[in-house]
Amino acid sequence: MSATLIKGTVIRDQIIEEIKADVEKIKAEHGVVPGLVTILVGEDPASISYVTAKIKTAKDLGFKEVQDSQPATISEDELLALVDKYNRDDSINGILVQLPLPKGIDDKKVLNAIDPDKDVDGFHPVNVGRLMIGGDEVKFPPCTPAGIQEMIVRAGVETSGAEVVVVGRSNIVGKPIANMMLQKGAKANATVTVVHTRTKDLAFHCKRADILIVAAGVPGLVKPEWIKPGACVIDVGVNRVGEKISEKTGKKVAILKGDVDFEEAKEIAGFITPVPGGVGPMTITMLMRNTLNSLKFKLGIA
Ligand code: NAP
Repeated sequence: MSATLIKGTVIRDQIIEEIKADVEKIKAEHGVVPGLVTILVGEDPASISYVTAKIKTAKDLGFKEVQDSQPATISEDELLALVDKYNRDDSINGILVQLPLPKGIDDKKVLNAIDPDKDVDGFHPVNVGRLMIGGDEVKFPPCTPAGIQEMIVRAGVETSGAEVVVVGRSNIVGKPIANMMLQKGAKANATVTVVHTRTKDLAFHCKRADILIVAAGVPGLVKPEWIKPGACVIDVGVNRVGEKISEKTGKKVAILKGDVDFEEAKEIAGFITPVPGGVGPMTITMLMRNTLNSLKFKLGIA
């Protein structure tokens, strides 16, 4: 039997509608909208395209959006002063500094200068700590893990008591999603195992998973026989494995593959995310939700 597809595009659209409704309500009742600034340093084409997508989504949602583009020659002190300016700007609820930054600028120093209450990416040590504590302490869960959790829950998969196995222990995906799933509370309460390159028997752990979250960045790492029949498989991996000509545009586009062998895995799993069109579309949406929540925290209506 084929698994139920968990489509990020469909869940994204649901959440976007929820955010839009909230923005309109807050605007009517409080006369303000969420404000998001994206600081882009230099002209890296990939960074420009990420920032453009974020700004477009913010605009479509009725946010105040500011794209602050700076030359690659900006000094660290000037960049820190810019962050400080937005920290003090009451109309801004979320500050993003697009990485990578040019050589000579300490990106940790810059990211740590962002006011934790405007750190909508959720990477500031204060927000990492809040995530670890869990419950009401959490303000801004990092966006990709937040999207993963939302997909699992909205697909109707039970997390309480589930065996969750996370492949990968990065600071942006593996560690935070593992931490989120083990918290005491709704959308969590799972028993969590994290595996990585030093794990002795990857297959053994994957086979035990009711919910298998794979974020390794290795195409086809998880074999179909490692999947427990009926499990929920979240494939976070996005791997470029070649190029093709798009039928729509006639332009060269990357061929993307996940960390799971999708075609065979979908015959065994109960739920599965595709690549592309799975976790990918969720990340920017969760960034927008964090920005909206930042304003709600400020207004005391979260
Ligand atoms: P990362 O920082 O490279 O971390 C990869 C993790 O996977 C590491 O912990 C590594 O273990 C583990 N790993 C790698 N190969 C392994 C293997 N053969 N066996 C077991 N564990 C292995 O990657 P990331 O930033 O977390 O991203 C992971 C994937 O998710 C990438 O494909 C990335 O493009 C994708 N991604 C997608 C989104 C999105 O869709 N929005 C967002 C973020 C990332 P060690 O720690 O032992 O080295």
